[in-house]
Amino acid sequence: MRPANPRAGRWIAPALVAAALLAPGTAQARTVRVRSGDTLGEIAQKHGTTVSALIAANRGRYPDLTRSHVQSGWRLTVPSPASAARTQTAARETDAEGYVLTVRRGMTLGAIARAYALSVERIRKANAERYPAIRKGRIEAGWRLRLPGRAYAAPRGWRYIAERPYGERGVRITFRPGANRPVRDRLASLVEAAARDAQVDSIEISATTNGRHRRESRHFLGLSIDICEIDGTPVRDLGADRRVRAVQEAFRRRTRILENYGPARIEQNNRPYRPSNYNGIRLQHVNHIHIAL
Ligand SMILES: [Zn+2]
Repeated sequence: MRPANPRAGRWIAPALVAAALLAPGTAQARTVRVRSGDTLGEIAQKHGTTVSALIAANRGRYPDLTRSHVQSGWRLTVPSPASAARTQTAARETDAEGYVLTVRRGMTLGAIARAYALSVERIRKANAERYPAIRKGRIEAGWRLRLPGRAYAAPRGWRYIAERPYGERGVRITFRPGANRPVRDRLASLVEAAARDAQVDSIEISATTNGRHRRESRHFLGLSIDICEIDGTPVRDLGADRRVRAVQEAFRRRTRILENYGPARIEQNNRPYRPSNYNGIRLQHVNHIHIAL
């Protein structure tokens, strides 16, 4: 089992709870009592799940439960993180043409474009035939917008990593087929910033959320990515060269990284990690850099 994250501040609780929930044999639903002032978003974040998953798990018992309405005293069932991650990825999977998003009140084209790492222009083009008013930048609640190339929904608090976070001349982030799935906002921001800090031209990501990882992996929680290529060269061939060092260091300079495993460093919480299975971990990460928050 991984050690609890000793980072100060609001992320202590989720890390501890997630670790507890992810321990073998304990990955099942649990109950939390809502306290005065709690919001559904905070409860979801604290327990490593999502607002949608909480609503789905509790609507039967509390029909009044909505995104903005939860009452103190209610006892909410918290689904296991693994089942929450499955809800967000597998269950929302759509056809290869893209994801269909139903517009809700308050959404803007710009916000949707940012959440799905698409240009406004591309969303307009994909939908102009069905909704001509979108050409003027207008969208309306109830429209079903097709988001090209996006096969998974990005729930609130999650988004796609931008492929060109700093414009055409900035670092380019590419993905192995099937690897581009939504991750938590803060991981997406971190990846974009660290890639730029490392001063490389491009990185390729081989895994984001889910993929072929075990349920205990933070890849199931939208909190982990694997980088398999830098500047078009496989990490396996680079070994601990300066670019691999630069990328691993860029992540740890930004924040405390729960797991930073790769050819240049095997670290937990930005300190060397030397468990009894160190050699196994090292051998598993000769061909990619694994980053987990
Ligand atoms: Zn990984």
